[in-house]
Amino acid sequence: MILFCQNLVLKLKSETKWSNELNLPETFNWNYAYNTPFKTTRNSKLHWLQYRINHRILGANQLLHKIGIKNDNSCSFCNTNTETLSHLFYECQYTDTFWMDVKNWINPVFNIPLLQITKLEVLLGHRKLSSSVNVILLLGKKVIMSSKSKRTRPNLNQFIMLFRNYIACEKFHYSKEGRLDALMKMWRN
Ligand SMILES: [Zn+2]
Repeated sequence: MILFCQNLVLKLKSETKWSNELNLPETFNWNYAYNTPFKTTRNSKLHWLQYRINHRILGANQLLHKIGIKNDNSCSFCNTNTETLSHLFYECQYTDTFWMDVKNWINPVFNIPLLQITKLEVLLGHRKLSSSVNVILLLGKKVIMSSKSKRTRPNLNQFIMLFRNYIACEKFHYSKEGRLDALMKMWRN
């Protein structure tokens, strides 16, 4: 989101931080990033999750420690590194294993190219990815957050359960609208 103020173009603080952390080009289109969840799914909980990541207000331990809610900032899964958003969702060894398991499960089932997902794509989603891949990334991040709050590590079974529930809800809504074909097309790729 770019704010226009007295002819100056101001970047949000969160955008500057993400730009530095992910080495984003000056031309990075934040409006695309903000709109991607809305183009991807109608699930408002997933919108809210991505909103908090985009604006860096999600409760990773680094932030919780900074504002005095947690005594230490270490990662909920490995207990070794600082739990930044990048570490939590992408860099942690346990998160990495989780994404590998998700890829290995998804690829043969849906033939969705989920092989080379970058840190940027995992954290902010990406317009160039199909809606199905963006949904998978959002659901994976939801599993990571729910594992963090339950003090467990993210695993494939949690993802499969969430994914099946999500698809069942989608089927219900799309069939009510007489648009099941559109849903099938989205997941056939
Ligand atoms: Zn970790």
